Amino acid sequence: TGMSSTSIFDELESQVRSYCRNWPATFTTAAGSAMHAEDGRSYLDFFAGAGALNYGHNHPVLLEALIEYLRSGGIVHSLDMHTATKREFLTTFRDRILAPRNLDYKVMFPGPTGTNTVESALKLARKVTGRQHILSFTNAFHGMTLGALSVTGNSMKRNGAGLPLTNSSKIPYDDYFSGATEDFLWLERVLSDSGSGVDKPAAIIVESVQGEGGLSAARPEWLRALSELCRAHEILLILDDVQAGCGRTGDFFSFEEAGITPDIVCLSKSISGFGLPMALTLIRPELDQWEPGEHNGTFRGNNPAFVTATAALNHFWSDDVFVEEARERGAELHDGLSRIANGYEGAIVKGRGFLTGIKFPDTTAASKIAAASYQRGLLVETSGPEDEVLKTMPALTISSDELRSGVDIIAAAATEVLG
Ligand code: PMP
Repeated sequence: TGMSSTSIFDELESQVRSYCRNWPATFTTAAGSAMHAEDGRSYLDFFAGAGALNYGHNHPVLLEALIEYLRSGGIVHSLDMHTATKREFLTTFRDRILAPRNLDYKVMFPGPTGTNTVESALKLARKVTGRQHILSFTNAFHGMTLGALSVTGNSMKRNGAGLPLTNSSKIPYDDYFSGATEDFLWLERVLSDSGSGVDKPAAIIVESVQGEGGLSAARPEWLRALSELCRAHEILLILDDVQAGCGRTGDFFSFEEAGITPDIVCLSKSISGFGLPMALTLIRPELDQWEPGEHNGTFRGNNPAFVTATAALNHFWSDDVFVEEARERGAELHDGLSRIANGYEGAIVKGRGFLTGIKFPDTTAASKIAAASYQRGLLVETSGPEDEVLKTMPALTISSDELRSGVDIIAAAATEVLG
């Protein structure tokens, strides 16, 4: 169907570390949930910048705010200096997000990316508790730097870095044993038993939905049990909301449904709302025990990102309309994917809200369906250690019609691949 066959990236394969093997198009412009390529084709985007574009590409309100800011001579880069733009972001974040949820967090800028916020959280937990060990979960994904990688589950990503990494171990995520785990009784037992020889961890780091690890979603009661265990043993609970946060699960924070208050929250990806690098680490105020300069970094003062982040919070999070519409769209997505999954023996829908996908019993199916979807004009990714889950994460601003077209493409691609 007319996709361009070669590009400069093919010719330069030996010189360019080009990440994108699955989508050979050369993209030029984008708006909302559409991406346009040089060869004139358009693609519907069910990938949304790996979760960095929850409000779609180039949202006009954010774009205007950014252009206006730059035209007026606004500061672009300011390390950790005070700027009016940063103040505006902090007060907006407090008023629109933290205060209405009764959350009392100090906001820290850990560096530009998701892996930076995870790294800062792990370091702070070790510093504050004086303990070293970190527990994380099977199939977790937390980032690519050595600390964040050490709490990541995927062996392919870990092992090349040379083991062991930082002092950490993995415990089973919620559905690892098809729901058969007695939540945390076993862990409670070894932590309470002085004869067990198990060192108390500094922190447990968890995702409410495992974005990269196969879209397993934690049950609210499981998260509550985890939170209670942490509190009882004075272990810090770090919630990595880098991918599942900023509205993706139907609330601003993915843990709201469970009603827990983590000690540390990691945010990045869609916090700037515009695809600009930005990350936040939210910490309970009494945990702020950093010495000045103890955790620093050059790119912590990305003022254009503060501008679009503030515009996004004001535009989307000042009332419940956006959340309710996003929840409706999320339910439509879930229904559409369920209809497809129902057609295939053993296929199941996984995830929550706008972070939802289909796991097929044939582990090669998802990649093939993603490739067939691309041919039909849809950008959709896979998730899981074997790429066994077809993962859809459209922008939350997607229209019903676009959503339906995307689901129809997946259905047609599945028929092509699986019959
Ligand atoms: N945590 C989670 C849950 C993520 O999904 C990701 C990125 N996929 C990261 C951390 C790392 O973020 P970044 O790629 O921006 O470093």
